[in-house]
Amino acid sequence: MRFVVDVMLGRLARWLRLLGFDVVYRPEAHDEQLIAIAEAEERTLLTKDARLLRDRRVNGYLVKSTRWDDQLREVIAEFHLRDLIRAFTRCPECNALLVAVEKEAVRSRLPQKVYEEQTGVSLCPNCSHLYWAGTHVERMSRKIKELLGG
Ligand SMILES: [Zn+2]
Repeated sequence: MRFVVDVMLGRLARWLRLLGFDVVYRPEAHDEQLIAIAEAEERTLLTKDARLLRDRRVNGYLVKSTRWDDQLREVIAEFHLRDLIRAFTRCPECNALLVAVEKEAVRSRLPQKVYEEQTGVSLCPNCSHLYWAGTHVERMSRKIKELLGG
């Protein structure tokens, strides 16, 4: 399931990526560009703007909820995404799939404590962001469970 989201849905985009979904989010893109991306890349356009969905070329969905956590639940339910969730496999910043790296390879970029304690480190091959299990991930795991009811 691949998506492109409009400018109103940035937080939803980030969380969908955190759950492993392929989401294009270009806050600077015009309506016409969003429609073109949806069409060319066969993505479902998630939008708060009903006008965008009048374009017959576009396969889209009007998000009804206003709060981002309700939006996330709504989209997961609407597209039956629950069993497809692969949390923490994709970069929430840029949408690239993360790759596991040896911590020795990125030692200079890791805080000492992280280097000593962590076994798994993931790297975004696109924006070079590093991720590891820690308080941040634990917090988000809890939030995901809370959002999705376990
Ligand atoms: Zn990235």
